[in-house]
Amino acid sequence: GAALILTLADEAETIRFGEDLALAFRKGDCIALSGDLGAGKSTIARAFLRALADDDTLEVPSPTFTLVQSYDLRIPVSHFDLYRLGDPSELDELGFDEALSHGVCLVEWPEMAESLLPETRVALKLEHEGDGRKVTIEGPEPQMKRLRRVLAI
Ligand code: ADP
Ligand code: MG
Repeated sequence: GAALILTLADEAETIRFGEDLALAFRKGDCIALSGDLGAGKSTIARAFLRALADDDTLEVPSPTFTLVQSYDLRIPVSHFDLYRLGDPSELDELGFDEALSHGVCLVEWPEMAESLLPETRVALKLEHEGDGRKVTIEGPEPQMKRLRRVLAI
C-alpha cells in the first residue's frame, strides 16, 4: 500500500500521534521506530504505552541497557531498544517471538536486527523537518487500514 506521511509540528503532536497508534494495533503487531537520536522514537513509545495503560504517569524507562522492557497492559507490550544489540541473533534471547505472540512489540533501532523482524511490521521513519518532525509510515494493508481509520485520514 501507499505510505502515509504526517507532519508532527511539536512534541504535543508527537504524543497525540503515539496515543492514536495505541488504538490501531493489536496482538501480533510489530511497530519499528526508525530515526536519528532525538527524532522522537521514545516519545512515541512512551505515549503509546501511557495510552494503553490509561495512565499519564506510567514510568517508561528507556531500555537502552536492558534492551527490552515489558508491560502487562490490556494488550501486553514489549518495548525494545536494539541500539546496543551485539548480533541480530540475540533478538531471540530477548524473547522477541514470545513477546509478539502475546502482544505488541515496539522496536527502536530495528536496523540492528532488520532481517529477523517480521515482514508484516509497520515501519515508522521519523525525520527532523524544520522545528518539527515528519513521520513516514509503511506497512501491510490490514494494519495501515486500521491506522487510517484511527487517524481519520
Ligand atoms: P529518540 O528516542 O528518537 O532518540 P526522544 O523521543 O528521546 O528521541 O526525543 C525526542 C526529542 O524531540 C524530545 O526532546 C521531544 O521533546 C522532542 N520532540 C518530539 N516530537 C517533536 C516534534 N514533533 N517537534 C519538535 N520536537 C519534538
Ligand atoms: Mg530513544
